[in-house]
Amino acid sequence: MNCYLHPEVPASGVCMRCGRAVCRDCTREVDGKVYCSSCAVSASVVQTSTKSKLAAGLLAILLGGLGIHRFYLGHIGLGLVYLLFCWTGIPSIIGIVEGIIYLTMSDEEFARRYGQPGSGGSASVI
Ligand SMILES: [Zn+2]
Ligand SMILES: [Zn+2]
Repeated sequence: MNCYLHPEVPASGVCMRCGRAVCRDCTREVDGKVYCSSCAVSASVVQTSTKSKLAAGLLAILLGGLGIHRFYLGHIGLGLVYLLFCWTGIPSIIGIVEGIIYLTMSDEEFARRYGQPGSGGSASVI
């Protein structure tokens, strides 16, 4: 089996994520795991995500009526909307629903949606 990028070079490992064979030059180690160079980029994006899915989910369920999880995720504007309408009780219901969505979402999906700086906003209202 040869490297998928360098057909003339024998592979020295297999990417954990996509399963493609990679030569020594193309091997990237992230946290002791072997990835190809293209997968290593997304793997490190997931790893550097500082937002915790569990924390966001619990905040949404427990304090969703105050929009605390929105502030946590960096959606300050939306958080203020929750605060503004917290007396109606509606944000609490939305918070619980969102909390369940966060908790059932895969880590990767969560990181892709909320983990990256500047990704928050209109596209991820729920
Ligand atoms: Zn790969
Ligand atoms: Zn290679």
